[in-house]
Amino acid sequence: MDISVIALALDVGGIVLSDDYSIENVCAIMGIEYRPVGTSGIKRIEKWNYRCLGCGKWFKEKMDDCPVCGSGMRAHRKR
Ligand SMILES: [Zn+2]
Repeated sequence: MDISVIALALDVGGIVLSDDYSIENVCAIMGIEYRPVGTSGIKRIEKWNYRCLGCGKWFKEKMDDCPVCGSGMRAHRKR
């Protein structure tokens, strides 16, 4: 199992894209967003660039207010 992809997802607030079921399980346990990619062997992180200042949830799209808690959003630049 490639744990580094999970560590990276935690670090940057990203989504794990992978078809590895063991990774899917770990993501579910740790509360990390996960998507199957439908192509074998691909593991990567999709970055989410906006973070709620209130609840800390990450979003891909810019929104005026967090749909979860209504707090303001902050943009994070891609590295
Ligand atoms: Zn929020």
